[in-house]
Amino acid sequence: MDTAAHFALTDTEHLDVLIVGAGLSGIGAAWHLQKKCPGKSFAILEAREASGGTWDLFRYPGVRSDSDMYTLGYSFRPWKEAKAIADGPSILTYIREVARDHGIDERIRYGYRVVAASWSTPDARWTVEVETGPDRIPRRFTCNFLWMCSGYYDYAAGYLPEFAGMERFGGRIVHPQKWTDDIDYAGKRVVVIGSGATAVTLVPAMAEKAEHVTMLQRSPTYMVARPSQDALANKLRRRLPIKLAYAATRWRNVLLGMYFYQMCKRKPDKVKSLLLGGVRQMLGPDYDIDTHFTPRYNPWDQRLCLVPDGDLFNAIKEKRASVVTREIDTFTKNGIRLKDGSELEADIIVIDYDQSTITANAGTDSLGNRVGYPLFKNGTELYETRDMVYNFKTKKAKISEVVTKQNDGFLHGKTVYKSENNELYSVGNGYTTCNLAHPHFRIVSTKIKAIPAASCGVFKKEG
Ligand SMILES: Cc1cc2nc3c(=O)[nH]c(=O)nc-3n(C[C@H](O)[C@H](O)[C@H](O)COP(=O)(O)OP(=O)(O)OC[C@H]3O[C@@H](n4cnc5c(N)ncnc54)[C@H](O)[C@@H]3O)c2cc1C
Repeated sequence: MDTAAHFALTDTEHLDVLIVGAGLSGIGAAWHLQKKCPGKSFAILEAREASGGTWDLFRYPGVRSDSDMYTLGYSFRPWKEAKAIADGPSILTYIREVARDHGIDERIRYGYRVVAASWSTPDARWTVEVETGPDRIPRRFTCNFLWMCSGYYDYAAGYLPEFAGMERFGGRIVHPQKWTDDIDYAGKRVVVIGSGATAVTLVPAMAEKAEHVTMLQRSPTYMVARPSQDALANKLRRRLPIKLAYAATRWRNVLLGMYFYQMCKRKPDKVKSLLLGGVRQMLGPDYDIDTHFTPRYNPWDQRLCLVPDGDLFNAIKEKRASVVTREIDTFTKNGIRLKDGSELEADIIVIDYDQSTITANAGTDSLGNRVGYPLFKNGTELYETRDMVYNFKTKKAKISEVVTKQNDGFLHGKTVYKSENNELYSVGNGYTTCNLAHPHFRIVSTKIKAIPAASCGVFKKEG
């Protein structure tokens, strides 16, 4: 080890709180921390050289939010732009303005990548190992509270699935996470693989300049067209004090979202016919909605895609874009051959697959357990979670999209779980008490209990 590295490791810095990540969550966490615990020392460790996380990383054409900024934005900072479904650069500006106006940007240590975290019960503190700068000089911090705001996907590389024959393709293959300014699609034939939020954003945006854009999907997604501007919110903003107007719109949207979700669960057939009716209205009676826009599952069993101002549908109607619902056989020199033998010719293929899921959230504790969101354990079975959300106000934690090896397919986890024999389990990095329902999860309680951090990362039987 060189002298600088040795010096850094022996020179441990202690802070009350360490926030990992300077994205939307990290900046928001710092704001709440400053307000509610003004005496606490803290820093934000940010692996990249810039703040904003998602909204700085993603640069593909049309990048935007998929939900409205009245609910995605901070409760304490009104969203003042006319568009509720906002473009990436406006969201980045919003986050950075909050950081600047509240002195949070001065607390960010850029180029500080957290690589491990371990908890010591005797010392009641975390030791956090960090690599800094391009030379990855190691540094060590200790803190009493480690606040993970590191997002849910791998910043280093998006998940790029392997398709047969990819190496044969003579054009360019692009992943939205790695979009660069030199990607020229004007007048080109583009195929976008996937029909998630990114594809639904990319297809109409690229169709403005491309010769033609094909959205190639294996199976359809539910889509709903909504205006990108919220007329009532804009009206309220003109008539009411800004904070009041923002709070009113925020709550209206939260309640509407909850209502719609409940409707999807209780009356799936009704919602399904409403959603498909909306698409039919946009695309006309002759369009093959059954093949291209009718999913095999019920609304909100998987994510529903918002189409702001119906831009995707307009591009389809104007024949600038089209949808193909088939499976890929292989990439060829000129494009993609599908399993029915037909071929899609392309100059550029964009692969919109999920971002690689969380790796950064995990560390190990002093017992060698994985710490953080991604893994939890029921007996000897390891489960993976895609996401965990903790609301400090309601003190509820939600584990979403639990992937289990025992049950068929995906289970959507909720707050607290109970096993059939009523066993209680604790999960996560120290704040959730859970019962694990097996094989069917259901909510039984919303009790939150701090558990020794030594049990982090695994479910532990209570008591
Ligand atoms: C195109 C797009 C649109 C989206 N639209 C919506 C939407 O409308 N509504 C919604 O709810 N969600 C949306 N999301 C999800 C979105 O990522 C989150 O809502 C939100 O931006 C996440 O903020 P975050 O701060 O938690 O994470 P991120 O934005 O991912 O920020 C995490 C930060 O942590 C840093 N970091 C990660 N690991 C480490 C480490 N080991 N050490 C130090 N720093 C680290 C990263 O560099 C990054 O700066 C969207 C995502 C994408 C890609």
